[in-house]
Amino acid sequence: MQSHDFIQLEDTYGAHNYKPLDVVIERGDGIWVWDVAGKRYMDCLSAYSAVNQGHCHPRILQALTTQAKQLTLTSRAFRNNQLGLLYKELCELTNSHKVLPMNSGAEAVETVIKAVRKWGYKIKGVPEDKAEIIVCANNFHGRTITIVGFSTDPHSREGFGPFTPGFRVIPFGDAPALEAAITPHTVGFLVEPIQGEAGVIIPPAGYLQDVKKICEDRNIVLILDEIQTGLGRTGKMLAEAHEGIEADLTLIGKALSGGFYPISAVLSNKEVLGVLRPGEHGSTFGGNPLACAIARTALQVLVEENLVENADRMGAYFLEGLRRINAPHIREVRGKGLMIGVEFHPDAGGARTYCEALMREGLLCKETHDNIIRFAPPLVITREDIDWALERITKVFSQK
Ligand SMILES: *Cc1c(COP(=O)(O)O)cnc(C)c1O
Repeated sequence: MQSHDFIQLEDTYGAHNYKPLDVVIERGDGIWVWDVAGKRYMDCLSAYSAVNQGHCHPRILQALTTQAKQLTLTSRAFRNNQLGLLYKELCELTNSHKVLPMNSGAEAVETVIKAVRKWGYKIKGVPEDKAEIIVCANNFHGRTITIVGFSTDPHSREGFGPFTPGFRVIPFGDAPALEAAITPHTVGFLVEPIQGEAGVIIPPAGYLQDVKKICEDRNIVLILDEIQTGLGRTGKMLAEAHEGIEADLTLIGKALSGGFYPISAVLSNKEVLGVLRPGEHGSTFGGNPLACAIARTALQVLVEENLVENADRMGAYFLEGLRRINAPHIREVRGKGLMIGVEFHPDAGGARTYCEALMREGLLCKETHDNIIRFAPPLVITREDIDWALERITKVFSQK
């Protein structure tokens, strides 16, 4: 079977809720993937930052196979010998006090919404069913009904209502807007440190410090969605460290398994998670021993291979190289660590055509919205790899 046969199968039998580039990948190793015809590509998306440790990392693979032979799932009706170790290691690594494991990012977001509402009623004293959570315009937090209900992207919302009430939207990067939106019923502020899906939007310096102070002063839980920015992507273990703050609740997912398994977690510094009592929240697969063993090793790889420092150094090098490209269609190059966005002028013909041209050159990346390309390769990338990428990117961006 060839590429077009696989594509036809997907188109015939699958729901069309994605519009992928027409590359059919069958193998991956580090920053590289190969399609069914054997052509090699550099992966500059990393499954939206789930593969920070590189494709099929041998140590994580070993942890997976070893644990899979031993024990995979007990449900939380019983305990297992991996969960407590993951909790301890995660707390030590991120300076947190408590952990709640789930599977997908969206489930972690749903979990904090429940926990923060309950905290509002039990601890803050908000009247029953009145709790409000403030979120930002152009957010991306996942795809459930509640989450898309507070999205401002029409594609995410339209046709899916009615939605869950209790959310209020303010502009991103605007601390005074947060201050102004707070009411006596506000329980939490949910925000991404850098908006990834919106197109790598970096807030003004000092923003996280400002919102942290506002949340503290007004007794509101600060929830940072670090599902994409976390675990090294921006050159720090958590992006909050760029501003030296600690959120009350932090969400992680994606790279928590190095791409091997869906694993997410809520990390808590305040006793918000303490309001959840037995029977009030859970997940059959959440915290299963296979997930825990994989996550423990995926975290060890980040630390022991210095991938966070590498993201910082290689990110700066990549950014500098991209900024040197002298192409009139480029409007802005921005980024932190290896989370990089290139925005084109609206009349450049759309980012998608550049992604397709880069694919032909052997480099995979994806447009976000019409005019932005995100470059987010695995954190194991080297200077030579980036030189290789820049050569191709320069050629493609200079062509039109
Ligand atoms: C990917 C992502 C999510 C959702 O994670 P899923 O595992 O796809 O449910 C939530 N927030 C952010 C910032 C993300 O990047």
